[in-house]
Amino acid sequence: RRPIIAIDGPAGAGKSTVARSVAKQLGLFYLDTGAMYRALTWFVLEAGVDLRDEPAVAELAHQCEIDFQTDTAIPVVLVNGQDVTQAIRTPEVTAHVSTIAAQAAVREALVKQQQSYGRRGGIVVDGRDIGTHVFPDAEVKIYLTASIQERARRRQLDLKSMGQPAANLADLEQAIFERDRKDSTRTISPLRKASDAIEIQSDAMSVADVLNTIVSLYQE
Ligand code: C5P
Repeated sequence: RRPIIAIDGPAGAGKSTVARSVAKQLGLFYLDTGAMYRALTWFVLEAGVDLRDEPAVAELAHQCEIDFQTDTAIPVVLVNGQDVTQAIRTPEVTAHVSTIAAQAAVREALVKQQQSYGRRGGIVVDGRDIGTHVFPDAEVKIYLTASIQERARRRQLDLKSMGQPAANLADLEQAIFERDRKDSTRTISPLRKASDAIEIQSDAMSVADVLNTIVSLYQE
């Protein structure tokens, strides 16, 4: 098996930007596991099913086929062939994803897919439980963090660059705080730093700084 780089951390720490650039630099695949939970959340909202109805959500999880097209600058996410790249980043999906992600049947289905994508290695995977649960034997484990103020500021820039309506910093901080709270207090595979992960506090670091740090850890 080729190496696996696992990047976990709280919401808005820059995991996907960094993971994508690490993958590009090292010629590895990139798997955005958050996009999978988002895609399913979008699918459940579209179906008009109550997000707390676990059996109904579990049923939808099996009807929701998630694919990635990675040969584009920004990876395209498909649900049953439909492009949902933008739709899974709306504040509505973001606000509900932690409810879906806390459900046992959902995690079982998505983790199985993630493990099959990564079976042969040669992949950078970002999420919340990659180093602790999905790939506990990953060769490189990173826990990427930043202060909540910095994460809200970055999220504000992201939303702007996606052409989404402006959001104020206090609201973004509140939403991020709430999502981290749910993600770190759920019973199954909560957000945790793996005991053998290397923590990178990125407040004062550029994307290039974080990229270089991870690439040198990989090359050690
Ligand atoms: O990384 P991103 O912000 O896109 O993740 C969206 C949500 O998906 C997280 O807030 C969390 O609820 C869930 N998630 C998860 N486990 C992962 C990745 C994401 O529970 N490995």
